[in-house]
Amino acid sequence: ATPQVLAGKRVVITAGPTIEAIDPVRYLSNHSSGKMGFALARACIAAGAEVVLVVGGKVALETPIGATRIDVRDAAEMLAVSAACVEGTHPALPCCDDEHDHDHDHHHDHDHHHHHDDTPRPADIFIATAAVADYRTRDAAPQKIKKTQDTMALELVKNPDILATIAANYPDLFVVGFAAETQDVEHYARGKLVAKKLDMIACNDVSRTDIGFASDDNAMRVFFAERYNKAAVTLDKDSKANIAQALAALIGALLPE
Ligand code: C5P
Repeated sequence: ATPQVLAGKRVVITAGPTIEAIDPVRYLSNHSSGKMGFALARACIAAGAEVVLVVGGKVALETPIGATRIDVRDAAEMLAVSAACVEGTHPALPCCDDEHDHDHDHHHDHDHHHHHDDTPRPADIFIATAAVADYRTRDAAPQKIKKTQDTMALELVKNPDILATIAANYPDLFVVGFAAETQDVEHYARGKLVAKKLDMIACNDVSRTDIGFASDDNAMRVFFAERYNKAAVTLDKDSKANIAQALAALIGALLPE
């Protein structure tokens, strides 16, 4: 049996690409498969956590058993939904957890206040695996754009950084980022760890063609915030399922009681 290192913890995970509308039928996106986020959801559930998956774009993967899945399209929506899930106020979240549900037997009781504990339960952990589009169109056209011009320009504006925004707004949350770097992996990973105020960052070397993105395998270097005083960890090439299990164990070991 998997050690229950995340027993009772609430985890919000972003996964997949975002899709940014150009007009009602066209969009900007990327090749993110969502596999790493879905593998992490499974690993966190196996370790005892309650998991919400916020899934961007058009990910066709099967929803992990036990996860609450919320599909979104663009970065703005992913940020709003992620924040509501972290706060515990999103309407799609399961409303009652079993621990607090001791009035189950009295379902016909007239005092409804005892049936649902609707106090929002904030998340403990936020994991950002989504490949958020860096830019979106300034204004998506309300009607399909006609091919009347020989050239056309799209004006793009920067998207919000979901991970950095969530980390800044919820300082008690344990926040995990991912990074894909082709060079100076440690330098750039540590830079993001500090700049985005993360607890942990997992970095894959995308210059390798045998891992990452649509692959079922991955290999990572994991770095931790200075205050944990914990040396970087290398996770050798393995299935995304096993990498995810190792990441869940690392998170569990660092969480405050
Ligand atoms: O800065 P960079 O895109 O390399 O950072 C990658 C990490 O930040 C990933 O964890 C990704 O999910 C997250 N991110 C985000 N919102 C963005 C850009 C990146 O949450 N707009």
